Parts: sequence; structure tokens; C-alpha cells
Amino acid sequence: MLIDHTLESNHAYTAKLAGSIDDFLIAAQQQLYYSAKILAKHYNDTDYLLEEANRLRQQTNSFNSVVIANAQGIVLATSPDTLQIVGKKPNSVGATQALREQKSLISAPYMSVVGNLLVFISHPVYDGTGKYLGYIGGTIYLKEKSILHNLLGEHYHRDGSYLYIVDENRRLLYHPNIKKIGTLVGKNPAIDAVTSGRTGDMRLSNSEGIDMLAGYAHVKTANWGVVAQRPTAAALAGLDHLMLHVLRNTLPLALITVAFIWLFSRLIAKPLWNLAESAKDMESQNTTSHIDKIHCWYFESAQLKNAILMGINLMHGTIGKLKSDVKTDPLTGLNNRRELTSTLEAWTREQRIFSVIALDIDHFKRINDTYGHDIGDHVLQTLAQLMREASRADDVLCRVGGEEFLLLLSNTSLHTAAQVAERLRASVENHPIEPVGHITISLGVAHCPQDGVLRADQVLKQADDLLYQAKNKGRNRVEVAGP
Ligand code: GH3
Ligand code: MG
Ligand code: MG
Repeated sequence: MLIDHTLESNHAYTAKLAGSIDDFLIAAQQQLYYSAKILAKHYNDTDYLLEEANRLRQQTNSFNSVVIANAQGIVLATSPDTLQIVGKKPNSVGATQALREQKSLISAPYMSVVGNLLVFISHPVYDGTGKYLGYIGGTIYLKEKSILHNLLGEHYHRDGSYLYIVDENRRLLYHPNIKKIGTLVGKNPAIDAVTSGRTGDMRLSNSEGIDMLAGYAHVKTANWGVVAQRPTAAALAGLDHLMLHVLRNTLPLALITVAFIWLFSRLIAKPLWNLAESAKDMESQNTTSHIDKIHCWYFESAQLKNAILMGINLMHGTIGKLKSDVKTDPLTGLNNRRELTSTLEAWTREQRIFSVIALDIDHFKRINDTYGHDIGDHVLQTLAQLMREASRADDVLCRVGGEEFLLLLSNTSLHTAAQVAERLRASVENHPIEPVGHITISLGVAHCPQDGVLRADQVLKQADDLLYQAKNKGRNRVEVAGP
């Protein structure tokens, strides 16, 4: 956009200048034409000629000097008269051309007799009969202050931009570097275009290889070209400034935005992070209460929290069930042999006093044989229930074989254990079970004292032996260890 804009403004600027130069040249030619017309009647009156030369130079300020010459080229009057060529025949390019061609002319630039680089604008003088009387011409100095400099102004030359004018032979008529005026311009596509009469703009490299944005316009009257160039870098410098400006203006907002993003992402991440931290330790019983306390302030985190809690509860439930399954006998719901072993290990470590009651249903085989296996199972379940009723909460009841059971009575003396055994025996005997009727059990009771004289397995063995003694002694009875 900046490049287009610069090209366009350079083009517009040169077109405007070319138009002004055209207007000026036409006006200058008209002035000379008018003077030529009135001078024709007074060509022998040198005072009149001098007066007209002065008027022409001073009134309009168009020319640096004015010359009036006769048909032989002898100068009749000049303004200013300091030129000192009156009565002489100058052989300058302009004068020679005017004499030879005898028509309205704008010369190519050339060096005058007194050493000025100039352009000569001339008009022939004819009398009423059409006889050639001579010419009147005005000069415009190229290297000194002149109407051309006034027209072009000096203000354009900033940030490496400059303006110049060439004639049709590529000779510089105007250039900010005064030393270059009068020299020929080398390779330059803008000058190629403008000297062939075109008007427009282009991007080019100047003679020093600098990237330039050029606008150019053709001056029709004199077949000159006006070129305005601006370095591309200078045109784009505004862009850097703009970028810095934008950056400076947006930086505070960007920082605030980043701060907000940081803050919000922390707020969003916090519940997730807390959930993740708590979920690391899923097996712990406290996890649920930890997770419950986490503040989940937005919908998704709350959903996640519920899902995790549900998952943990489900997992704990399943693990709990598996744990109890592992130590429970599925038929009776009593502890199995695995739990018996771990209980005994724990009690031995604690050096706990306890008693053991071993019991076995009398003639259970017959019940199975008579009523079937299902009824047998029912009898086992009923017995388990009676055992529960006969024991305390911290007693450990186990099914150790088909219809063989053990009761571990914590902190219980042999005597008390014997009483419990007897009570259980009596309750079983007196509890009718449909359709079997009454069953009986035989029991053996042993004791494990604190001093650890007996090992747990020895106590179990003793209880078992006593149970078989009870069997041998006729069943439905309790045998107690010791005297
Ligand atoms: P004793 O008075 O000498 O103990 O006679 P008994 O018939 O009870 O003899 P024993 O203890 O050897 O019999 C065990 C029977 O228990 C054998 C088996 O059919 C039965 N049994 C073992 N486990 C189960 C069970 O889970 N369900 C049922 N219904 N019967 C079982
Ligand atoms: Mg039995
Ligand atoms: Mg048995």
C-alpha cells in the first residue's frame, strides 16, 4: 500500500509539475510573440527596443536575460545591458538556431558566451509584409536562480527523495545536485519512458543502485521529462514506525490478556490438579473425603469429581466384597480356614488368651443320605445360626470342614468356654430342624494360656482330639481339656 501510494503521489506530483512547466513555456512563447508583434513597427528605434527588452525581463520575471537581434544576427538590445554583446553577433547555439530556422523555438541547453548554462526561448520578428527582421529571445539559466527553480521549488528534497528534469537528449536541465545539471543521464528506465513521451510510475534502481519509486511525466511543449524519485526504504520507513506504534499500543493490552489467561487457566486447572493428586491414592479410605472437599466450581470438573467419587466407591465396595469373600464360607457365611489361620497368627502375635471349641455334627452322613444334600446344607446353615446366637461379637466362628466347625473365644477361660460349649450343645439338641427333626453335635474344648506353653496349632489339635473323645464316648457331649 505504501509503495503504491508513493508511486501514485510521485506520478501525480510530476504530472502537476509537467503541466506547470508546459503552462509556463506556452506563456513565455506568447509573451515573445506579443513583443515580436509590437517591435516590428519600431525595429529601427534602439531605445524602444531596449525599453521593451527591459519590460519583458523585469515585468514578467520569466527570463534571466532578454536579447533582440536583427536579421543578420547582430544584437540590437539586451536586458540586462551588462551583457555587453550589443553590436556583436553571438554564435551561440540558441542564436544560430533562431537565425537559421526563423520560427518559435525552445533550444536544447547550452553554454552561453558569458559562461551560463541556459535554455533559449526565441520568437522571430516579421514586418507587415512578412519580411524577416530578426528575433527576440529570452534565456533561462539552469544553474542559477531562475523561473524554473521557482516553479520546481526546493522543498521536495528530503529523506533521499529528489526531482530532476531532462531534455529529449537525456541531458539534465534540473537536478538537486547542481554539478550534474547539463550532464547526460545514463541507464534509467524512467528516463527511457519519459523521453519517449510517456507518463506514469515505476520501481527502479537508480544510477547508484538504490531501489527507487519513481513517477514521471512528459512536458509536451519542450519535449522534456520530469522525474520524481523516492527511495523505497524511505517510503517503507513509515511502516516500521507504524509497527512499533502498534506494538507499543497493544503491548499493555496483550500483557493484561496474558495475565488473565494465566489466571483463568490456573483457576480451571486447580480442581483438575487437586482431583488428580487425590486420585493417586485411590485405595486409601480417606481419598473419598479428600475428593469430597475439593471445590469444583465449573460443570465439567464437578462431573469429573462425581465420576471419580462413584468410581472410588464402586472400587472400595468391590474390594470390600472381595476381601470378605476371600475369608468367608459361602454356604454358612462363617469364616473359612484362611481367616482362621490369619486370626490365630494375629492372636499369637498379641499373646492373647483364648479358648477353642471344636464341634462336629453327629451322624451327618445319615441326614444327607436320608433327606438329600440340600437339606444337609440347610442343617449346616441352621447350625451356623445357632453358633452365632451362642457366641459374642468378638468370637471368631469358622467352618473348617464339611460339617466341622471351630469357635475361637478371645480372652476366655477354659471354664467359660466349656460353659459356652455346653450351652451350644443344648441349644442345638433342643432346636428342631424341619424336616430332619432334632440333631446333636459333639464338642471338644481346649485353652491357650498367655504364657505360650502351647502353640495355637497344638491347641487346635487338642480340641480336635477332645471332639473325637466326645464322639467315642457316645456323641452329643462336651469334652473339656485338663483335669
Ligand atoms: P459322626 O457322628 O461320626 O461324625 O458321623 P458322620 O456321619 O457325621 O460322619 P462324618 O463326619 O465322617 O461325615 C461327614 C459327612 O458330611 C460326609 C459328607 O457327606 C457330609 N458333608 C460334608 N460336607 C458337606 C456339605 O457341605 N453339605 C452336605 N449336605 N453334606 C456335607
Ligand atoms: Mg459328623
Ligand atoms: Mg465330620
